Amino acid sequence: MTEKTDVVILGGGVIGLTTAYHLALEGLQVTVLDKSDLGREASWAGAGILAPGNLSKAHRPLDLLRAFSRNRIESFSLQLKESSGIWNGFRKCGILDLEAPSAATQNAWVDEEIAFQSAEPSQYPQVQFLSNSGIFFPDGALLENPLHLQALIRACEIQGVRLRPNSHSIQMIKAENRIESLATVDGKRFAADRFVIATGAWTELLPELTPMKLGIFPIRGQIVQLAIEGEMPVSCIVESGKQYIVPRNSDEILIGSTEEPEAGFEKANTPSGIQGLLDFAHNLIPILRSAQQVRAWAGLRPGSKDGLPTIGPIPGFDNVFIGAGHGRSGIQQSLATAQILTDLVLGKRTFMDISPFKADRPRSQATEPLFRS
Ligand SMILES: Cc1cc2nc3c(=O)[nH]c(=O)nc-3n(C[C@H](O)[C@H](O)[C@H](O)COP(=O)(O)OP(=O)(O)OC[C@H]3O[C@@H](n4cnc5c(N)ncnc54)[C@H](O)[C@@H]3O)c2cc1C
Repeated sequence: MTEKTDVVILGGGVIGLTTAYHLALEGLQVTVLDKSDLGREASWAGAGILAPGNLSKAHRPLDLLRAFSRNRIESFSLQLKESSGIWNGFRKCGILDLEAPSAATQNAWVDEEIAFQSAEPSQYPQVQFLSNSGIFFPDGALLENPLHLQALIRACEIQGVRLRPNSHSIQMIKAENRIESLATVDGKRFAADRFVIATGAWTELLPELTPMKLGIFPIRGQIVQLAIEGEMPVSCIVESGKQYIVPRNSDEILIGSTEEPEAGFEKANTPSGIQGLLDFAHNLIPILRSAQQVRAWAGLRPGSKDGLPTIGPIPGFDNVFIGAGHGRSGIQQSLATAQILTDLVLGKRTFMDISPFKADRPRSQATEPLFRS
């Protein structure tokens, strides 16, 4: 059985679904395939931290992705709410970073005209019981991943996107330098004029992409959720190195996250991972010792060898594009990535030069992001 639409998107995470929604708004008929439930992998597991950004001043490739997305996410959240009826929990709560930045990083914040201020503990009422000084970014924001995914899925449905969960694609059916269809494990075929690959950490498992050595691999991240009774001790995001505390809603706190490339595709919590996160939070905000651990989960970030996502046409094919490898910042970069992929599918000029993200770039140097999440 073959189903045909204008575009088939492989992967129903935040990158695939956001792209599907944008393409559907452009009038294209779109199908999204996912090997399991839609939006239940890295995009669901993340903490939803959105670093600040200033599109008119950003100039490095990663900064442009971050700034474009950050500038649009508030209005996009409202658009999703209007369409789906689901509010994704977006709010500008600020980020307090407890780690001293290098002079180069601080200069880059100044160049991008990002608002920030050094703060002593008494100056930030957003966090009680904390004795460290830090740097506060008032424009730091967050959203609640499960709600954002639900809103995207619903909005896609309303726009007529054909959503096909439990459709594990195992083969690309080729005709010369084009893909004609994707074959799934249960014998179905999904044909289209153009294809978008948004398979996150699993991208290099696709047999046709494995030889390309895209440098995309899984990096496990664990998160612990605490229930807070009474007053919330934290109302902004608190970051220290790669770990953070996130107030998810009025009575829950997330503590994240581990970074475990050695775990491969093993998506499970470990006692040492959970204990490390609890120790971090308890040392920082001792009152959290009395909070109850509600649950813990793990997700597989699509890591990238050089710290950059791969976005653009896939070499050797005329009708296939990819958006994968966003590492720790895929929610944050999703709107820019979806816009680029939409423009590529439509044959339009992209809003930025995408050559730094091309699939066949040399991947020798690692790019450090200006913000860790
Ligand atoms: C613990 C943790 C914390 C994070 N915190 C943040 C944060 O605060 N801010 C931020 O911006 N980012 C954060 N991230 C990163 C962010 O979640 C990811 O970068 C982003 O979700 C990647 O989106 P994606 O759509 O590429 O991947 P995914 O959400 O993993 O989606 C890929 C989809 O492709 C499907 N798929 C794969 N192979 C196939 C196949 N062959 N056939 C069919 N379907 C297939 C998978 O089932 C999956 O649903 C975090 C991630 C983790 C794990």
